[in-house]
Amino acid sequence: MNTPGERQAPAGVCLGTIRITRVEPCLADPSEWRLYATPDADISETLPYLNAVLTGARYTHETRTLSFRRQGMLVTVMPREIRLALVPTLDAGRALLEWLRGTINDTYARRASIVPREGLQRLPSALELYKLLPRTNCARCGFGTCIAFALRLASGIGRLGECPLLQEVGFLKPRMALQMLLGEA
Ligand code: SF4
Repeated sequence: MNTPGERQAPAGVCLGTIRITRVEPCLADPSEWRLYATPDADISETLPYLNAVLTGARYTHETRTLSFRRQGMLVTVMPREIRLALVPTLDAGRALLEWLRGTINDTYARRASIVPREGLQRLPSALELYKLLPRTNCARCGFGTCIAFALRLASGIGRLGECPLLQEVGFLKPRMALQMLLGEA
């Protein structure tokens, strides 16, 4: 039941809007942003279903917290708050929130056909990621070696776009495989 003053989402839709409430420079990199946003409805019921459909997501049922990464940004979803970190531009953050709103509503609409997951999804290991990198150790990413870059990706900080070779046409297939593993497809 909605509390007094709470906006009612349209029928059949879980979420009407996600409103940005605070913007701060990222602690890890002041050139990037942290965004805090508030959904207009309690989305706790949808979180186990989102955990089942988002590749690489981690959901802790006790704290009702779902986290995943997308396009290099770190996303944390709680019943009443959404936080984004490592956001390169405010437009990128807004676009991610709009994508998330659509994904939440789509997942909510399809929940009868989804088996909810209330645990941790397995994250790709650095070795799995390394096998898909160009493995030239050219250092153009700025991290010295491909294994160092793979460790960065596995920790959730690195971005596929930081490896210039991966952006070349000849690496399209491994790039797509990496995107799938990292939930960025
Ligand atoms: S730029 Fe790419 S290929 Fe070169 S070291 Fe970094 S990860 Fe490896």
